[in-house]
Amino acid sequence: MYNRVLVANRGEIALRIISTLQDHGIEAIVTASDPDMTGKPARVADGILHLPGESALNTYLDIPLIVDKAKDLGIQAVHPGYGFLAENSEFAKAVIKAKIDFIGPTPDQMIKFGDKIQARNIAIKTDTPLIPGTIEILSHEELLEESKIIGFPLLIKASAGGGGRGIRFVNSFEEMEEQIALAKSEAKLAFNDDRIYIEKFIPHSRHVEVQILGNGDEILHFGERDCTMQRKNQKLIEEAPAPTISRKTVKEIHNSAVELAMGVKYQNAGTVEFLYDQAEKKYYFLEVNARIQVEHPVTEMITGEDLIWRQLQVSAGLDLDISQENIRFKGHAIEARIYAENAYKNFTPSPGRINRISHPIGAGVRVDSAVDDGCEITPFYDPMISKLIVHAHNRDAAIHKLATTLDNYLVTGVHTTIPYISEIVRGDAFKSGDYHTKSLDNVSIEIPDDVELFARAIAAFSLKGKPKTVVNSVSGVSRWKTSFWPRGDEL
Ligand code: ADP
Ligand code: ADP
Ligand code: MG
Repeated sequence: MYNRVLVANRGEIALRIISTLQDHGIEAIVTASDPDMTGKPARVADGILHLPGESALNTYLDIPLIVDKAKDLGIQAVHPGYGFLAENSEFAKAVIKAKIDFIGPTPDQMIKFGDKIQARNIAIKTDTPLIPGTIEILSHEELLEESKIIGFPLLIKASAGGGGRGIRFVNSFEEMEEQIALAKSEAKLAFNDDRIYIEKFIPHSRHVEVQILGNGDEILHFGERDCTMQRKNQKLIEEAPAPTISRKTVKEIHNSAVELAMGVKYQNAGTVEFLYDQAEKKYYFLEVNARIQVEHPVTEMITGEDLIWRQLQVSAGLDLDISQENIRFKGHAIEARIYAENAYKNFTPSPGRINRISHPIGAGVRVDSAVDDGCEITPFYDPMISKLIVHAHNRDAAIHKLATTLDNYLVTGVHTTIPYISEIVRGDAFKSGDYHTKSLDNVSIEIPDDVELFARAIAAFSLKGKPKTVVNSVSGVSRWKTSFWPRGDEL
């Protein structure tokens, strides 16, 4: 095993990786930009690799700087986390060239899966069910022709897209001409790659993905995660096991994921994403994320596994001391992503100083967050505050635990999506499982009568505690007796 590992990332995922490293007696060095020099990962790590500057481009995305400094520091392996350089094959190549291990798939595998068109071709080779659509670069005229065959609505996707970006919804043939042009220029701007393809839109679908781990010889799976609760193609709530889909189908999805990964002798941790068509009861390959994912804790909660440790074992070429039969699933886990955003003002980011933050605790409660009192949410990076994960014996109990835990999550100084998540979790749709990936795009959450008063009420609650007799739940903000709360200077 390694003695010294660099975590080339920031925020909660940096802290998460540092924790596993230190747990196994490995020295953890972490990258830190100027604003992150006083952040929790920098404070907790055994060493800091300083990246002067603020913008991601000048710091966490500067490949030569990170690799040069890593060499100087005698780093043996680099963990890239998710986002930033995690799926950048040039980074992986530069790291390997410097005789440092890259904790992730091979650069070749990253290239193949980073390009969604190539990934679709691998799915064809491995007989994985594929969403009807195109599988090669086509001319403008050819795309128009193909669109008639596929039918409408359909999606135009950027081959290099990710993070819910680079997807355009097209309702009818009349819109195609214009949407192709828009999709191309958008993809060029966002990913510096204007290659696009088209795919049939699957209505009322669920997002189901499989956690895999490979060492080149064998592929293990750690079960599935359901990430159907999304807003604008971005995941908000993730859970395992997947609700509403028969276990027989879920097992088929596991097998498809393993076979696809086998097809390229996949190395390290990855996720094979699928869409499940609820009307047709069919599943289709979506894409592969060649990295550890944001929502990996959900899997860790129900399997008792440390997936970061498994990544280290594979990367260091050590034997995996587990087999598929030993990977057991217990109970139900749900994760909610909490962002510094104002859900009542179209989710505009709410950067600023966190005055007070008090993360909930409890049996079966896990909070992955690098945010603590006085911490600044800067406009430079992702405004995620934390991931709240709960584990209980079944789904109903997990939902109840998540709802009550959210009630006791105290944050002041910035707007958060806690009230919004709380509304969703308490809603009948979530409880019954009767929703699809677009459900949230179609509903508007009730705006409290007085948004400012509401913000102050949260601050009051956070500093002074929950009003014991008047209300006993913070969740239904619109249900609050707002007149109870003090105004202005009283806070
Ligand atoms: P996950 O499936 O792990 O939830 P996401 O798609 O939400 O993954 O992306 C994880 C992180 O990586 C997010 O912070 C997202 O903004 C970032 N990300 C993913 N793909 C890209 C991309 N192509 N360009 C920029 N950021 C990306
Ligand atoms: P990204 O790389 O941005 O994660 P994905 O291809 O994984 O892109 O798609 C992200 C989300 O967009 C999916 O989880 C799903 O909600 C929606 N989506 C993608 N493709 C389709 C499709 N063909 N039909 C319906 N929804 C889709
Ligand atoms: Mg995806």
